[in-house]
Amino acid sequence: MPNFTLADDVFEGAAERFPTPFHLYDEQCIRDRARQLKKAFAWCPDFREYFAVKALPNPAILRIMKEEGCGLDCSSSTELTLAKVCGFRGDEIILSANAMPPEEFTQARALGATVNLDDLTDVDTLRTHGGIPACVCLRYNPGGHFSIGNTIMGNPGEAKYGMTRPQLREALDMLRADGAVAFGLHAFLSSNTTDPSYFPSLAELLLSLGKELAAETGMRFAFIDLSGGIGIPYRPEQEAADIFFVGEGVRKAFETVNPGPGVGVKTELGRWMTGPAGWLVTRAVHEKKIYRDYIGVDASAVNLMRPAMYGAYHHITVCGKRDWPEDHVYDVTGSLCENNDKFAIERKLPRIDLGDLLVIHDTGAHGYSMGYNYNGRLRSAEILYTAEGEYRMIRRAERPEDYFATLDGDPAAAELGL
Ligand SMILES: *Cc1c(COP(=O)(O)O)cnc(C)c1O
Repeated sequence: MPNFTLADDVFEGAAERFPTPFHLYDEQCIRDRARQLKKAFAWCPDFREYFAVKALPNPAILRIMKEEGCGLDCSSSTELTLAKVCGFRGDEIILSANAMPPEEFTQARALGATVNLDDLTDVDTLRTHGGIPACVCLRYNPGGHFSIGNTIMGNPGEAKYGMTRPQLREALDMLRADGAVAFGLHAFLSSNTTDPSYFPSLAELLLSLGKELAAETGMRFAFIDLSGGIGIPYRPEQEAADIFFVGEGVRKAFETVNPGPGVGVKTELGRWMTGPAGWLVTRAVHEKKIYRDYIGVDASAVNLMRPAMYGAYHHITVCGKRDWPEDHVYDVTGSLCENNDKFAIERKLPRIDLGDLLVIHDTGAHGYSMGYNYNGRLRSAEILYTAEGEYRMIRRAERPEDYFATLDGDPAAAELGL
């Protein structure tokens, strides 16, 4: 079920200090999750979580990750820059490539980051942009469907990521010729899954493959990178993945495959780490009754795109009315000129009055960061609810001048005094 740990007065207290809408993040929750994960993999002497920056790219959050001993998984130049300015060392950074500009390899190598190659052609690019390091990570795509038992978990055959088995071998031969001595294997085959068998199954797949490739090439198999994909229970009836079961399952995969000594484990969880630690706080500002009853709020899909983009469910509570009967049915909407700008569709909720504070749950990952500026709507502030119980604004809301700031040289910019 969604995260209900914060009481309504925490959200109300924040809304007294900062104008809505805003995302509020719970520092203690983030730290607790990082610690649980570490504990679940404590059996592995070479384990590290590399938090997926794209899930919540705020420096205040990234510094918390650093304090908890995590590294970062980056996918762009700006994310690498964030990692650098937040003080992450090279061995604490992974760059996952995907149709990326070659200069980003150069930047990653200059930082000493681990490079995760997505394609065979990336080997040449890396050679000419930063050079081949001693250890390189390769992303695998097994094709077809990825199943656990009878359940299809993902569809890698249609995914743009990774290399085929023969390409992995060819890439390793090329890398070895250029002086690489070790390799890691990465795959991301299922997204937002709460099935605790996902990582264990993936680990078994990657460990067997790595063992074979090490035998074929004579290179050292250094680590598996299980990437992200562990989901969270967005719906009240959903159960969370038991992270200790996940850790123990991966340990058993090592036992089953026996890949040899010194193989480490990396993860790049995003959603699991911070998803339940964030809430989008917004106010009911409008109600209209036509064929349905619509509550208009001051947030919109620019602040949280998942419902509009994926039809994703996010739980909603109304501050001060958690115990009220859910005897009204509403569509909760933003103000965009897009009919999919709805946070809830025909949702049972308590009666909502104008001015009520609505809390949209589980927005701590892929929430703010997926935002955009459609209709000229501006991104919200981000507030950290600290472990000491204080509110800290860790990003201000966008202002109109931010929206106009990229119009360099246009007469409109001069007219606006920019
Ligand atoms: C998106 C992504 C992640 C994080 O995914 P979650 O679903 O948030 O866990 C990790 N690694 C890579 C390479 C990604 O693209």
